[in-house]
Amino acid sequence: MSITLFALGGTIAMGDAGQDGPGVLPRLTGADLTAAVPGLADLGEPLDVRDVLAVPSANLTYRHVLDLVDAASRAVAAGAVGVVVTQGTDTLEESAFLADLLWPHAAPLVFTGAMRNPTLAGADGPANLLAAARVAAAPAARDLGVLVTLNDDVHAARWVRKTHSTSTATFVSPDVGPIGLVVEEEVRVLARPERREPLPPVDPTRLGATRVALHTATLDDDGGLLGGLAGTHHGLVVAGFGVGHVPGALAPMLGALAAQIPVVLTSRSGAGSVLRHTYGAVGSESDLQRRGLLNGGMLDPYKAKVLLRLLLAAGVDRPAIAATLARHG
Ligand code: ASP
Repeated sequence: MSITLFALGGTIAMGDAGQDGPGVLPRLTGADLTAAVPGLADLGEPLDVRDVLAVPSANLTYRHVLDLVDAASRAVAAGAVGVVVTQGTDTLEESAFLADLLWPHAAPLVFTGAMRNPTLAGADGPANLLAAARVAAAPAARDLGVLVTLNDDVHAARWVRKTHSTSTATFVSPDVGPIGLVVEEEVRVLARPERREPLPPVDPTRLGATRVALHTATLDDDGGLLGGLAGTHHGLVVAGFGVGHVPGALAPMLGALAAQIPVVLTSRSGAGSVLRHTYGAVGSESDLQRRGLLNGGMLDPYKAKVLLRLLLAAGVDRPAIAATLARHG
């Protein structure tokens, strides 16, 4: 038995750029990362380390995540008790959610990273990697889907958000809190979210060709960016104000788009759900749904975009998209 570690880069793997210029660059290998973690060798499970990528997480793609899920599945089939992924924190909430939508195994798939790079005092990478490895090996963490472990918190990928640009406590699940904690050597699971059926496998080529836009409503927004969108994109996520509102002037534009492509309504607020039938003004949640927008429920805009793109790439029709949003939102 072992834990498989896939290293993708990010701050956790950054070192001095040296002659390559100022700042830090992702240049540490998985072996470098594990060598820096006191206690990892005493875990009782050897680590099988795979260097996959060394990139800032802004450069990750859906294709990378699909390949990662395949490789992690093969590792589990070959006997790994769990899998750890190290990557940059900037896009971690999206890649972990994407992986969660597809991960069929009971074995934990645990994403982690770091906020302070290894050249800084108090670098958090080693502690995060140790905690993630503990979670990957923990019987209590089985059958929880994809998890995100940083700062000794264990979050469900379906709810976690990066909420601070520099704090080591940046990962938060605003609607529910962490579902577990790492306390000394022990993984304490506090809540067990109901597992959802994984989505059917996605064809990477179709996924690559599927374009979903995200439009955030802002004060005095004239919707100028929305023109012609149905000609360039297959779907749209709207991050509306509060419970799912947009300026009245945008409502007919969004209605016209919703007649051509699926348009999902979410909230830009950072927590909570869009509503269904409380407000009635033009641009309100009821008005937008009357015009054909689909309700994203509690999905934040980024997660809704991931889910919509996977569904569109799988050729799922509009009623099935609405039903899946109802299940996941
Ligand atoms: N910019 C970095 C990245 O996402 C930040 C991090 O790793 O925390 O790769």
